[in-house]
This record gives sequence, structure tokens and C-alpha cells, in this order.
Amino acid sequence: MEGLMMHRPLRIADILAHAAQIYPEEGIVSARTEGDIHRQSYAQTAARVAQLAHGLIAAGVKPGDRVATLAWNGYRHFELYYAISGIGAVCHTINPRLSAEQMAYIVGHAEDSLLFFDTTFLPIIEGLSGQFPPSLRYVAMADEDKQPESKVELLNYEAMLNGQPEQFDWPEFDETTAAALCYTSGTTGNPKGTLYSHRSTVLHALCTAISLPKVLREGSRILPVVPLFHVNAWGLPYSAPLTGASLVMPGPGLDGPSLFKLMDAEQVYSAWGVPTVWLGLQQEIAAQGRLTEGFGHLVVGGSAAPRAMIEAFEKEGVDVCHAWGMTEMSPIGTVGNLPPSMEDAPLSEKLEIKRKQGRRAFGVDMKIIGEDGSAQPQDGTAEGELFVRGNTIAAGYYNNPEATAEAIDGEGWFGTGDIARISPNGTLSITDRSKDLIKSGGEWISSIDMENVVMGHPNVANCAAIAVPSEKWGERPMLIVVAKGEPPAPEALRDMLEEHFAKWQLPDDILFVEELPLTATGKVSKLTLRRQYAAAG
Ligand code: AMP
Repeated sequence: MEGLMMHRPLRIADILAHAAQIYPEEGIVSARTEGDIHRQSYAQTAARVAQLAHGLIAAGVKPGDRVATLAWNGYRHFELYYAISGIGAVCHTINPRLSAEQMAYIVGHAEDSLLFFDTTFLPIIEGLSGQFPPSLRYVAMADEDKQPESKVELLNYEAMLNGQPEQFDWPEFDETTAAALCYTSGTTGNPKGTLYSHRSTVLHALCTAISLPKVLREGSRILPVVPLFHVNAWGLPYSAPLTGASLVMPGPGLDGPSLFKLMDAEQVYSAWGVPTVWLGLQQEIAAQGRLTEGFGHLVVGGSAAPRAMIEAFEKEGVDVCHAWGMTEMSPIGTVGNLPPSMEDAPLSEKLEIKRKQGRRAFGVDMKIIGEDGSAQPQDGTAEGELFVRGNTIAAGYYNNPEATAEAIDGEGWFGTGDIARISPNGTLSITDRSKDLIKSGGEWISSIDMENVVMGHPNVANCAAIAVPSEKWGERPMLIVVAKGEPPAPEALRDMLEEHFAKWQLPDDILFVEELPLTATGKVSKLTLRRQYAAAG
């Protein structure tokens, strides 16, 4: 028997409409690239989003079109999220830290029609416009009187909004309609696109709100340091307005002193980001000898949060929530809240739990598969590759059947490439990574791609790129080379790599060895190398 309830499609536009009516005092504070602080309520934001939607349609954007953004965290980027998806088009956020080669690839693969960019990224646009599709048009996200001069023809964001109506009758479409596209690095080759739907996005916002009621609530002030170009800033542009929390957007100022100043002035309660940024903030807190005004909560994820970092914040009175997830999971999979019974426990006991990746969020099913291919018990001891399933998890990659086939197992579960243990109460511990990737400052570097480039040198017999631990970046790449004849100069290898990799992705160290350790099956044992060079970072 069917239930007798209405079925209304879940739509992203309804989140902002809700916030504009129910939480008119809340909104978005932005440190702008122009250098000032900008404030706007959700009601004002909704009016501008309506104007932008009219502007997009006037510019010829149609449902299903991909519209790209290359921008920091700020109100205009937020507005693009809602206007683009609201008219049924797809908001494709581009990570400006990708190499030129990867950026050109994803813009071509996504077939973007318009590209909105913060003016700090004008050099990227000018450098790559020749490699982007000729039909692509560019919009500078700037005040009209700050429109940059360029050899590339540029539209202006504010001009697009000017004179447009402040109301928009949002169209109804199936809730499975695509809303946003975010590319993530593959183990090898080109990045792969995760294509979120309206349904997955709204459900993710609801599920995150349930997991973090202490933070996602009316009047709370949240700082997303995690970029809007990196998995939708962990869903905050949706979960914050949904629950009545305000967002404090840091723009390009992500160093410790800039974050301290903004958080202090805006009384940020909860800050979200990867471990690397919190090291900078911790140093500034130490230099100032105090916490910022109102600061009490931190969400850290994207890489494992070091125990010492959690401990230092906790000792200052900041409640640290260690979260785990993936681009392909919208992204939140687990959240490290303590049960109320633990609130008065000694710090050492709390830290034992908080250094783990947290408890499973509602709607995320997990299984771990051992080396023999069998499902392992969730007893906190058995280890294996983690697979996930749920309404907020990618069923495949955009226009990429090979990568989809690799990622999804025979039973429809998504393979995370993380090695994990799960305890009976659903607490996850990530213990290692099976995917051959290096994560530095929250961003990926493909070790296999690096090895492929280096193997192209005539004097290289074999090589391995491995992650070595780094206090600041979490991991840094190290290249270990077996030479054939005269060893090549490290600069020559770096020059070869620079053609394909962004500067920050290049290895800090290049070592020459006689031979590389092998596994029983004759492959280079990265595990042995990682252990051998663990202290090198
Ligand atoms: P991304 O898609 O860039 O968000 O990267 C997702 C991957 O980052 C996961 O599969 C993990 O390998 C890693 N990761 C994310 N959060 C954590 C965490 N809290 N601890 C350890 N690794 C993490």
C-alpha cells in the first residue's frame, strides 16, 4: 500500500526562501577581495539571487547548462550557488589550486558556458583563455567601478543584476535534477566530476543539521574556511541558512592573523576547515595570548586532525569536532560529537575519542571489506577498505563510465579508498589510505601521475612518489628515484614535473637510491617506503 502524503520535490531554492522569511536577522558577512567587510541578510541575499537568476537567463543560460565559478568564499559566490541551481542549471565550482592542465581539462569536460571569477584570479583566466572552449564567456565578480581591464572580454557581475526584478518564480523540476558539479583528483589521470542533485543537497543539509545541532542553529556564527570550491564548503551554504546560522566568509585571507582578526571582529562561534589552516590560527592565538571573542567550536576534517592540535584547542576551551567525508559524499560521512555522558570525562579520555573520525551521520551506511574480499565485523579492531552507501553519495562520475565502474562495487557501494575500523557504536577510525594519492594542505597530488612523468626521463630506471608526514601540511610529496647511468639533476626532474603540476604539488625532496623495495607480487612497496621515510618531513 502506498502512503497517502504529498510528494513535493526537494529544491535548493526553498532553503534560501525559508531563511529569508524565518531568519531575516541572519545572513552573510564577507571579507571582500576589494578589501572591505560586506554584510547582507538572507532576505537581501534572496533578492539579489532573484536578480542574478534573471541575469543568467538574460545571458542565455538554460536548464542543464554548466556555469563555472572560480572564486573565494564570499556573498557573490553564495548567490551563484542559489541562482544557478535555482533555474535548473549546474553550478560548477573550480578549484583554483589545480594545475593549469587540470583546470583546462575540467572546463572542457564540463563544457561550461559561463565562468564567474573573483578578480584575484584574472591572471588564471588570461593565461588559460586560449585553452578554454572558445564559446566560454567570463564574468568578473566585482563592483562595476572596480571592473578590471583585460585583454579577455569580460562581463560584470553587478551589471548583470542591475535593474532586474527582486522576485523570481523558481521553476519546479524533478528533485533528482543536477544542481552542482565538483571535480576531485583521481589516483591517475584527469579529475573526476561529482554531480550533486537538488535531492542529495537538501538531504545532506538536513542530515548535517541533525549531526551538529550545537552549531547549526539560529543565531550561531560560522566561519567556513573550507572553500566553496571544495565540496560546497562541506555543505555550509545550505545547512547554515536552513537552520538560521549566519556565515562569516573569509575571502582570500586564510592566514592565522587574518582569520584571527575576522573571527574576533565578527564573534565567530564555530570555524570549519582542514588541519593546516588551524595551525596558523593556533600560532596567532598563542601570539595574542587569548582566543577570539565568542570562539567555542571547531570542525576539522579533510585530513586527519593531529591529536596535539585537538588537545591544544580543547585546553583553550574550544570543542573540537573531527569529521570525515569525501567530495563524493557531499561530503560529510562522520561527525565527532561526544555523547552527553562523556562531557565531564577527563580530557585524556575525550581525546582518545576525538582523535578518531567521529560517528556515522544519519543516512550513511558503511561496510569494511578485508583483503580477502569479505565484509569485516564492526568491532573496532577489524580493518579493511571502507565502502559507503546512501542518498548523499555519488552513484558515479559525470561522463566518466570507467571511473564509475572502478568506484562502485557489485552491490552498489562506493569504495572510498580509505582503510578503516568501525567500532560497534559507529565510530570510524581511518588508519591508512589504499588510493595512491598524497594530501597536502587538504588538496590532492597524484603519486602515479608524478611517477609517470618522471619515468619519461631517459636516466630514470624506476621511481616512487610517496607521502611523508608534515606538521604544517599533513603530508608532502617525496620522490625516490633509481637512476639509469648518470643520475639526472633534481632540477631537471622538477622542470619536467612543472609542466604538468601546480608549483605547490612539486616534491620537496628528491632522493636517489640503488633500488626500491618490492612487495611479494613484485610491485614497489609504498608502505615500506612510507615507513622508511616517515621521519623525513
Ligand atoms: P576530498 O574528496 O578531497 O574531500 O578527500 C576525501 C578524502 O580525504 C577521504 O577519502 C580521506 O582519505 C581524506 N580525509 C577526509 N577527512 C579525513 C579525516 N578526518 N581523517 C583522515 N582522512 C580524511
